[in-house]
Amino acid sequence: MIDLSGRTAIVTGASRGIGRAIALQLAARGAHVVAAARADNAAATVQEIAAAGGKADAASADVSDDAAIGRLVADTLERRGRIDVLVNNAGITRDQLLLRMKREDWDVVIATNLTAAFALTQAVLKPMIRQRSGRIICISSVVGQSGNAGQANYAASKAGLIGFAKATALEVASRNITVNVVAPGIIETDMTRGLAGNAREQWAAKIPLGRLGTPDDVAAAVCFLASDEASYITGQVLGVNGGMYL
Ligand code: NAD
Repeated sequence: MIDLSGRTAIVTGASRGIGRAIALQLAARGAHVVAAARADNAAATVQEIAAAGGKADAASADVSDDAAIGRLVADTLERRGRIDVLVNNAGITRDQLLLRMKREDWDVVIATNLTAAFALTQAVLKPMIRQRSGRIICISSVVGQSGNAGQANYAASKAGLIGFAKATALEVASRNITVNVVAPGIIETDMTRGLAGNAREQWAAKIPLGRLGTPDDVAAAVCFLASDEASYITGQVLGVNGGMYL
């Protein structure tokens, strides 16, 4: 059984979907979770964690705002004294064929999905280096590995996370900090509930395991990578996709 007692974990985009499941599962394994989200906030997630006997604080942070990231990290250090795990989960889509894609839809997706991971990871590295331990887990996507028509911005951001994680893993391995990527396939959340027409059914038909994934499927992989059991794993991409990218 994975035991994360005594660890402090920041999870971005923790108000719903995959981020909520990650926050709940980390807390169920003993971590003190800082559930970060925008104004739609993570209070409900924190209440759920507390009701289950876990420990968590809600934090308001738009990850595309550098000042908010600075406050999130400073507040966490002030309250908890350490940051053991960072899960870069917050993400958005602005789908459009490239020929019609607006520059602003490119920019906001890169800023939210990729640049925010850069800024947050950079901000937590100093305390992690002082601690001589840390776990950074980026939530990419199968789309960052395979590409997907209509998602050039999203695929670029998610592929970018993979390169970012590998390069950073090499830089901080000597400090006992691991940096890994979880690449979910098609997961049942608000993000995929917004897919047009029967796109979900079409996707499910292409998944060897025959079903869409659940947020808990992804959260279990994150908990493993955050655990002592994964201490010799760094710079890796763990697909949680039912076999859809082999
Ligand atoms: P979701 O839309 O249900 O939740 C996204 C979360 O990110 C929300 O809590 C939202 O408030 C937060 N968020 C968005 N922009 C933010 C910002 N600027 N600052 C702070 N928080 C912000 O999506 P989800 O399906 O739970 O996706 C979570 C992550 O998993 C994303 O990075 C997504 O790209 C990735 N992912 C999802 C799927 C899927 O099929 N659902 C597949 C692969 C990867």
